[in-house]
Amino acid sequence: MTEPFVIEVPDGSDFSRDNLPLGIGAPAGERDRAWVAVGDHAIDLGTVQRAGLLEGLGLPDGCFADDDLHRFLRSGPGVWHATRRRLAELAREPVDAGWVRLRSDLEMSLPIRPVDFVDFYSSLHHATNLGRLFRPDDEPLLPNWRHLPVGYHGRTGTLVPTDSVIARPHGLRLVDDSPVFGPSAALDIELEVGTVVGVGSALGTPVAIEDAADHLYGMCLVNDWSARDVQSFEYQPLGPFLGKSFATSVGPWLVSFEALEPYRVASPVQDPPVSDYLRTNEPWGFDLHLEVWIETAAMRAAGEPPVRLSEVGFADMYWSPAQHVAHMTVNGASTSTGDLFASGTVSGPSPGSHGSLIEMTANGVAPIELPDGSTRCFLEDGDRIILRGWAGGGDRPRVGFGELTGTIDSGER
Ligand code: MN
Repeated sequence: MTEPFVIEVPDGSDFSRDNLPLGIGAPAGERDRAWVAVGDHAIDLGTVQRAGLLEGLGLPDGCFADDDLHRFLRSGPGVWHATRRRLAELAREPVDAGWVRLRSDLEMSLPIRPVDFVDFYSSLHHATNLGRLFRPDDEPLLPNWRHLPVGYHGRTGTLVPTDSVIARPHGLRLVDDSPVFGPSAALDIELEVGTVVGVGSALGTPVAIEDAADHLYGMCLVNDWSARDVQSFEYQPLGPFLGKSFATSVGPWLVSFEALEPYRVASPVQDPPVSDYLRTNEPWGFDLHLEVWIETAAMRAAGEPPVRLSEVGFADMYWSPAQHVAHMTVNGASTSTGDLFASGTVSGPSPGSHGSLIEMTANGVAPIELPDGSTRCFLEDGDRIILRGWAGGGDRPRVGFGELTGTIDSGER
């Protein structure tokens, strides 16, 4: 044992000792492995497990030396709970300084490698905002919206970790009513929260909504980059395709539902009442605070800090993670460990609470003005987007996700 080390948690840190989120990463040049974040530090769980400090919890041998969290996630709620209790002790005790790194020294990878990724559309305010934008003379919500959580199957092979460069996608979009091939001129973000499957479910066996907690491990931030011009030309009648599939960023830290337990809230009352398979008395809303920040290339060059574009609450999401898994499997579709269900863009009703640029700028009509006088309708090359999200704060323990960032480049190769 080298020097014993007690980790301090700075005020306002996302990573209080009540959080204990797991991630996959490594210092540059080392092999990826699992870490738990505490304050500005992270504890190397691959090494801690090898040293024998995680015995008797039911963990698979050496699972935290893996380059994803799947063997841990597959172990189920009993092991998740026992491991969390042990990690809470580790986060308080003096630990071997050789097991601890500054989080800023780690390069984080994807914590999961989903077989399937679904993106939902579960914010009433977002769906209403977009409905008003595109169908101003009609009822903003389509007839199905309050009856089922609308979603589509996304692309898992293009899920990317935080700090990725996002190549501006090329595609066909309408210019003066004619399809023209070229780089997207309407590249957007979508502020989302993803739910991760721990224990999968078999083909032919729906997950009952009451059993959702046996399958769902926790949540992470998601940025569902979107090429609006490509999307708007291609999507009829089958839905999102190349306008979405070029990249989706997944946050580095996976926060367990157990850590979020104190921040559970009842979801909004659903009217009309939903079908029995989507109905539960369990509270599956989460009182999260989410933010979108931007740093342009010019701001970076001038040494200016990022600026916040919006602040959004998550507590009033219309459709919940339990409803997502019940709905997705009701036809008998299977789920696998590590699968990701993204919430869909999280927005509020008012300016300053929008989770996408298309809403913030009324589809590119009303540019955002930045402090240096520059403006944005959609993303420009060099723009860096930072998503943040947390529960608690003030006199309650803060349970946060850290930052999910991505930087746009031209896509010219
Ligand atoms: Mn989306």
